[in-house]
Amino acid sequence: MSTRTIALDDILYQYLVDVSLREHPAQTGLRAITHDHPYVRMQISPEQGQFMAMLVKLIGARRTLEIGVFTGYSALSVALALPIDGCVVACDINQEYTDIGQPFWEQAGVAHKIDLRIAPAIDTLDTLVAEGQGGQFDFAFIDADKTAYDTYYERCLTLLRPGGLIAIDNVLWGGKVAYAPDEDDTAALQALNRKLHADGRIDLSLVPIGDGLTLARKR
Ligand code: SAM
Ligand code: CA
Repeated sequence: MSTRTIALDDILYQYLVDVSLREHPAQTGLRAITHDHPYVRMQISPEQGQFMAMLVKLIGARRTLEIGVFTGYSALSVALALPIDGCVVACDINQEYTDIGQPFWEQAGVAHKIDLRIAPAIDTLDTLVAEGQGGQFDFAFIDADKTAYDTYYERCLTLLRPGGLIAIDNVLWGGKVAYAPDEDDTAALQALNRKLHADGRIDLSLVPIGDGLTLARKR
């Protein structure tokens, strides 16, 4: 027993998956096809997808944002958790990646919920703000270029309703955030983690799932 979060070795991690992972066949299929992609490491873990789906259901989310789609596993996980008229505005710059996920979104019957915007995410978010959609979203997942995370966070805060939830991925950055920064991405994540700690606009929890997932609930 311990007063701190347990570390997971391979055996315990496999146990966790064995006794708790519930995937739609389309999620399993999308993970299998992404497994051979050179950037498979960018995909979130399945238990993180399941955790985010739980959050989306808990807050009764209907309109959501995703910044960083890759082959679409996180978008699929969230879309499956949304009601039939729910929507994920999914932002990415690389259609080659998202084309891999599209057939699996269709297989799961949720393609109609995923509004894919191929453009720099900041442009898509600024368009939504300009359209007067501030306060209209319930949930956002930030998982794209790390040096722009702070900008994405600020736009998402504008676009979310009070009580809405922002989930920010990779905030532990393989452990590198605890040391002197070796690169711009590490420095950006460190600065954002410090900023959020002091940010009175949100309730905060850093969850050690995957590579670290910060939950910021808009007050
Ligand atoms: N959430 C995804 C999943 O579950 O598989 C993983 C996302 S991956 C870590 C990051 C993605 O961000 C890549 O697909 C990349 O093309 C995209 N990206 C990078 N810079 C971007 C930008 N400026 N605007 C939008 N997307 C961007
Ligand atoms: Ca990530």
